[in-house]
Amino acid sequence: HYRCRSAFKLLEIDDKLHILRPGLSVLDCGAAPGAWSQVAVERVNALGTDPAVPTGFVLGVDLLRISPLEGAVFLSKTDIADPSTLRTIQSLLPAGKADVILSDMAPNATGIKELDHQKVINLCLGLLNLSQSILKPKGTMLCKFWDGSEARLLQNRLKEQFQDVRTIKPQASRKESAESYYLARLYKGK
Ligand code: SAM
Repeated sequence: HYRCRSAFKLLEIDDKLHILRPGLSVLDCGAAPGAWSQVAVERVNALGTDPAVPTGFVLGVDLLRISPLEGAVFLSKTDIADPSTLRTIQSLLPAGKADVILSDMAPNATGIKELDHQKVINLCLGLLNLSQSILKPKGTMLCKFWDGSEARLLQNRLKEQFQDVRTIKPQASRKESAESYYLARLYKGK
């Protein structure tokens, strides 16, 4: 019932590393078509399906249109890198803050490996900048990157701001050989 196979990457990562749990607020960047948001809605109990545990919140953002999903709020046709997007996100998140920032964002690939690599790293760096305004202390950021010369720079920036940073290569993305994720946990806050 997932909108895209990419759901299995997040399920695999979350089964192993437990980044989503009932009651958490999640910002899902690059959310279209919405499979990661589907997983997040289930795992944070955004619909309040289980009344015995806290109810979470999911906000998805994408350049493209995202079809409505019960339990999620979507900002379609929205560029995460646009400076005005921050205020909109803050106005939609409960108390203006997220516990978890997910990014499966991928720029339009040019086919030039080094250029595509730099574009995706820049998206992640921009998101890290945004996280300073919206991520709760001890919060989590999971971001996709394509391997290349600047990956270490991104990793170092993450290590400055999070206590625990690890590289993840899900089984489910073994086909897309250059694709990995950084999981950064325990945000140090400002
Ligand atoms: N995780 C999604 C899912 O499970 O349905 C799939 C995400 S897809 C691999 C990458 C998405 O990143 C694309 O839909 C693309 O439009 C989006 N994207 C790329 N650059 C973006 C930006 N600057 N702002 C918002 N979304 C962006």
